[in-house]
Amino acid sequence: MKRKQKPKLAVFKFASCDGCQLSLLDCEDELLLLADAVRIANFAEASRAVLRGPYDITLVEGSITTAHDAERIREIRARSRFLMTIGACATAGGVQALRNYRDVKEFTRIVYARPDYIDTLATSTPIADHVKVDFELRGCPIDKRQLLEVLAALLAGRGPKVASHSVCVQ
Ligand code: SF4
Repeated sequence: MKRKQKPKLAVFKFASCDGCQLSLLDCEDELLLLADAVRIANFAEASRAVLRGPYDITLVEGSITTAHDAERIREIRARSRFLMTIGACATAGGVQALRNYRDVKEFTRIVYARPDYIDTLATSTPIADHVKVDFELRGCPIDKRQLLEVLAALLAGRGPKVASHSVCVQ
């Protein structure tokens, strides 16, 4: 009898501090169980696997701040059955969205010796501004128990006991 394939899990990062991915890595024992239940297809922080997809579950950390980011998230969406954004950067633009109210060119002039090398959009925007998002988990960083609950629910084929657009619990 043919063995059932494990669902493919992918984790992608955009503009962010990596703190939400670290929340997942901080799950220790639960992460081992999770790693046994899924096939890690892409998770640069934790694995060398680079599979193109399609992915059954995709976690996205970070906001969109470059034209390349905007193109990349569309490609990732096209390869993802269920796409979940994790953290304030991905769900609301993050602290880097402060640029949305100022002149970003002025910032790059002040900070960088060669601002002409900096290729950035004038805004930092949440992932949902660019592609359809199936679930949003908020927090800065996210609550690892909430993340595990949503992943466990998805793998069990039931509804999560955490609301999408969950309030920040930190
Ligand atoms: Fe870091 Fe907070 Fe953004 Fe998560 S939401 S990546 S912890 S800044």
